[in-house]
Amino acid sequence: MKDSDWKQLTHTLSGLNIREKEPLSKHTTLNVGGPARLFIEPRTESEALSALRAIRDAGAPLLVLGNGSNLLVCDAGFDGVVMHFGKAMSDITVSGTRITAQSGAPLPTVCQVAGAAALEGLEFAAGIPATLGGAACMNAGAYGAQMCDTLVCVRCATPDGQAVDIPADRMDYGYRSSRALKEHLIVLSACFSLKEGDRDTIYEKIADYRKRRKACQPLTYPSAGSFFRRPEGHFAGALIEQAGLKGFSVGAAQVSELHAGFLINLGGATARDFIALAEKVRQIVHEKSGIWLESEVRMVGDDQA
Ligand SMILES: Cc1cc2nc3c(=O)[nH]c(=O)nc-3n(C[C@H](O)[C@H](O)[C@H](O)COP(=O)(O)OP(=O)(O)OC[C@H]3O[C@@H](n4cnc5c(N)ncnc54)[C@H](O)[C@@H]3O)c2cc1C
Repeated sequence: MKDSDWKQLTHTLSGLNIREKEPLSKHTTLNVGGPARLFIEPRTESEALSALRAIRDAGAPLLVLGNGSNLLVCDAGFDGVVMHFGKAMSDITVSGTRITAQSGAPLPTVCQVAGAAALEGLEFAAGIPATLGGAACMNAGAYGAQMCDTLVCVRCATPDGQAVDIPADRMDYGYRSSRALKEHLIVLSACFSLKEGDRDTIYEKIADYRKRRKACQPLTYPSAGSFFRRPEGHFAGALIEQAGLKGFSVGAAQVSELHAGFLINLGGATARDFIALAEKVRQIVHEKSGIWLESEVRMVGDDQA
């Protein structure tokens, strides 16, 4: 895109709390990533839709960002528009056994709201540091449950700015995958259908899951959760541990000593450190087990080497 096109797009998007050269390290849980050329935060669905139309008309690259808890953004940053769904679009409403949440709602808050309404089915999500949009797009899951178990409808925008309500059974949900990821749909909100339950039992389950995470996950360090997808019939963390890689590091990026599936930032790590570490882990695990690990964390940007 020419400079004049960027100027025009910046002008068109100027009402959306627009920032230029926003460091993405501030918006990822790995605390890694260079600047975004433009960074916007829609406050309403219609703002999001009209911004998408402007971005499409300009031909600008788009990255949709939730809490950045599953992203590795390169050190050079993202030369495009980052559309961030956060506090400005985070309403949660309860109606009977249904909960509808906007894309920027924190998933643990959705889970708490469900608990307070004595609705069960979202307890697994209490410790997942996602937004509703990111989790509905990634089909986040834990402890044998996942988003698609209770989702009934996902309201999405197409990349050209049309809103569509998609029944969850047409979202093509699989292990950490969805139609939203495949077709670049942007999740605006989603509706869950939950079961009436006992509030105390729900809270106990949430507390138990939180305790289990605290015991086995390196929650005091920046990370993106499990870095690798679970290979069929195996656990990535166990394969990495068996390969003797606990504590192995490149620069300030390290395989966690507590949970080998987590790659953590010891302080000041770069995206290049993480990319080099992940590559080394893949090679050594492959040599020892014959299994090639694939990233669950999504890479953004060009210097992925
Ligand atoms: C400590 C820790 C523990 C974790 N535990 C778990 C776990 O138990 N289970 C699990 O599944 N994951 C876990 N994760 C990973 C992560 O929280 C999930 O993948 C989560 O779904 C990502 O949500 P997000 O809002 O942070 O999305 P982001 O990281 O911001 O984005 C992830 C992907 O979703 C896309 N996206 C984000 N928002 C939208 C939207 N509104 N519309 C369309 N696309 C969108 C992005 O473009 C990107 O491709 C963990 C992460 C951490 C740091």
